[in-house]
Amino acid sequence: MRAAVVGGGVAGATLAWRLRTAGVDVTAYAPEAEDASGASGGLVRGFEVDADASRAAAESLAELRSDERVRDWAGYRETGSVYVTAKDVTPSVDSVEDVLPGSASVVDAAGLARRFGFRDLTADAVGVVERHAGHFSPARFREHALRWLAGHGGDVRTERVTEVSAGAVVRTPGGTTGFDAVVVAAGAWTPRLVGGEPLRSKQIQYGLYRLPIPCPVSFVDDRTGLYGRPAGDGAFLLGLGCDRWDVDPDGVTPDHDLAARVLDTARRRFGVTGGAGTADRVVASFDCYRSPAGLRLVRVGAGVFTFTGGSGGAAKTVLAASRRAAEELVAA
Ligand SMILES: Cc1cc2nc3c(=O)[nH]c(=O)nc-3n(C[C@H](O)[C@H](O)[C@H](O)COP(=O)(O)OP(=O)(O)OC[C@H]3O[C@@H](n4cnc5c(N)ncnc54)[C@H](O)[C@@H]3O)c2cc1C
Repeated sequence: MRAAVVGGGVAGATLAWRLRTAGVDVTAYAPEAEDASGASGGLVRGFEVDADASRAAAESLAELRSDERVRDWAGYRETGSVYVTAKDVTPSVDSVEDVLPGSASVVDAAGLARRFGFRDLTADAVGVVERHAGHFSPARFREHALRWLAGHGGDVRTERVTEVSAGAVVRTPGGTTGFDAVVVAAGAWTPRLVGGEPLRSKQIQYGLYRLPIPCPVSFVDDRTGLYGRPAGDGAFLLGLGCDRWDVDPDGVTPDHDLAARVLDTARRRFGVTGGAGTADRVVASFDCYRSPAGLRLVRVGAGVFTFTGGSGGAAKTVLAASRRAAEELVAA
């Protein structure tokens, strides 16, 4: 089988590596770009409120922790995490425990205040605390995956694809090539290359703040939408959901109002008053969103597929999603 993967972000690079490992003759079109994988915070944990997403995240994390090469390529650091929500956590906690036994436990609102410093929680708030969680570098992982591919019979090209058409045909400035299958994994650029499914781009932004936040681990607070992780030396990476949809991935600019809201929200949520009044650094990027959310293989035409739609969370699920996508593609 001859397959082309268009896009060398973490989704495309990981899928191309999986396909080559399965014996597929792979060409990866991976031009350099300021992409989501380069900007990503790389937070990983097993728990998600949605049970299917949770299983994919837990399976990815299990591979990240247990496979020495994957762990090394990713630069994985295990720091732990807490996810605060008032929703039913039981199905997802059960699925995390299935895959990563002994990792997840549930604490009540009083425990969240005492152990992690959260303030103003409702009485029904619970926290899913995970021992096995942390962060990795999607950019480092994709570099290793593409380097491995180039050294193991794959063809890694830096050309930008100008057109993908039915029949698995790829056009670049250098010419036209036919394949048995083409997978477009071009993140937020994907809708420019293929139609056939509702995909949208959306801005994602976080900042580096110097705040005396007492939480020692990565966190998500799903009522306020605040998320973050300690970044060393008294700094925290902090973010909130951004409502800028359909952004041009080549022209994203920081949302300064959002950066200020992050600071306010964090101060209120953790009851902290000191620290700097602005972010040291703001990272503004984007991702490709689909509904229902999640990275997966979708057939959009004869021999043409997409592998995108990470919806702000593909670092967490890419290992499991790419394994499944490669199996589906080989079987197709
Ligand atoms: C600021 C930020 C923080 C994040 N934090 C987290 C987190 O903590 N945890 C988590 O799980 N997820 C996180 N995410 C989400 C996650 O990083 C993304 O879902 C993931 O990186 C998407 O990877 P991708 O390969 O689909 O897209 P991208 O990384 O955007 O890659 C797309 C690639 O396609 C290439 N391309 C585009 N057009 C063409 C073309 N015509 N021809 C060839 N190639 C093309 C581009 O050059 C690019 O390299 C974050 C994202 C952002 C932006």
